[in-house]
Amino acid sequence: MFVDIRHLELLKFKGCKECTECCKKPLAPLILEDFKKVYNYFPILIAKLDYLRPVMLLSNEISCPYLNNGKCTIYENRPPACKIYPYSPWYDKILLDLSCSGVGCEGEYLPLNKKEFYNSSFYEERFEKINKKIEATHKWLSTQKLIFLTSYKNIEFFTLEKNNDKYNLYHINSLKHLHNYFKTD
Ligand code: SF4
Ligand code: SF4
Repeated sequence: MFVDIRHLELLKFKGCKECTECCKKPLAPLILEDFKKVYNYFPILIAKLDYLRPVMLLSNEISCPYLNNGKCTIYENRPPACKIYPYSPWYDKILLDLSCSGVGCEGEYLPLNKKEFYNSSFYEERFEKINKKIEATHKWLSTQKLIFLTSYKNIEFFTLEKNNDKYNLYHINSLKHLHNYFKTD
């Protein structure tokens, strides 16, 4: 459960240790700048969640295909969502996933206000001007033509009609990974 850090206090993080829970999450939302970083490893699709948004499929029925013996085999190139977890930016809010098993009363104190967060090791350049980046992503999506692909885990997924836009091409190239997730015609 993601909660705005402004509503939280005095939480600690004991680290991931042997935990691989977030490698079993089905998908992660994307902003445009993420496309280049993930298209070589994961399918980029458009998902109808609360509204249409670009996502990457993360784990299949078992786990992320890059998880092997409890280790990430693409650690240096893991997606931004993996790097910043258990935090997630959402417009002017910074959310923390309380279902992360590393969050509790052991370990290092977690930054729970923006100033501390921006000075912490959890901070990523991706958070910079995130409002504008999310808006630019929505705007870009509104220029694309959607093609229904399938329903999976009760979510409708779409691909995009091919065009010469560079983000569209990252999406098209990423579809080579779909076979790791579900069968398509
Ligand atoms: S971020 Fe949390 S849920 Fe993910 S592997 Fe680490 S401890 Fe587990
Ligand atoms: S890329 Fe690595 S860290 Fe991210 S879900 Fe896959 S195995 Fe886990």
